[in-house]
Amino acid sequence: MFMEVKKTALELLAESVRFVLVGTTHPGNIGASARAMKTMGLSKLKLVAPKDFPNDIAFYRAKAAKDVLDQAEIHVDLFSATKNCELIIGTSARNRKVPWPVISPKEAGKEIVNALKRGTNDVAVVFGREDRGLTNEELGMCNLHVHIPTNEEYSSLNLSQAVQILSYETRLAMLESADLLEKPEWDVELANNDQTERLIAHLDELMQEVDFYDTQNPRKLLTRVRRFFKRSRIDKMEANIFRGLFSAIQQKLKK
Ligand code: SAH
Repeated sequence: MFMEVKKTALELLAESVRFVLVGTTHPGNIGASARAMKTMGLSKLKLVAPKDFPNDIAFYRAKAAKDVLDQAEIHVDLFSATKNCELIIGTSARNRKVPWPVISPKEAGKEIVNALKRGTNDVAVVFGREDRGLTNEELGMCNLHVHIPTNEEYSSLNLSQAVQILSYETRLAMLESADLLEKPEWDVELANNDQTERLIAHLDELMQEVDFYDTQNPRKLLTRVRRFFKRSRIDKMEANIFRGLFSAIQQKLKK
């Protein structure tokens, strides 16, 4: 059952979300982008007027994502590559003259997943040329712009790395929204309040036995010790290990 739900949510993502690379110069970047997409379960790649594709370098850089390249569609312009899309998100390394709604990659992931939940069938995330990004006209075709918050003095990521960040955030948003993030179960039950309190009392007893602090003036020591154990949410076995250690020290002290 769990696997089925997971498959449906991720399949929906793979079927509905296309990544569009516009005017890419280096075939290596196309291959690396295909790999970045496939690691995140995306496979719809559209290439708008690539300078040099197909090319062996692209296939070499794609590693096990050659299928994504095999299926990649080539278009003459962005308009044709985004046909039927109800949501188009453009990426940009810098601010443009006319402000547009600009969101973070995380917000973009949520926008995409929300659109799919509303029944949108086609969403595009658009990436620009290595040397000069997307034209104003191309950015003007987008509903939203995404900026990856970078160092202001050097804001331009390698194309495939920008693809990796957007595809990761999109997958994460889908997994979170479908409550499919796998969190490993803890191997031991957490200590309950009784056990934690007894542990703290035991440590206090030991500290007094070795004159660790002035009982007339403990200051904040006990509060800090208490905070440490409460904050660490220790499990039953960890509590037992410490209790055993404190007892062993007490036994030695008695001898
Ligand atoms: N000099 C170009 C940089 C292009 S980098 C410019 O000023 O736009 C190639 C592509 O990678 C960009 O078009 C964009 O799609 C993506 N990219 C690189 N850095 C990015 C960033 N900080 N935020 C969003 N996308 C980015």
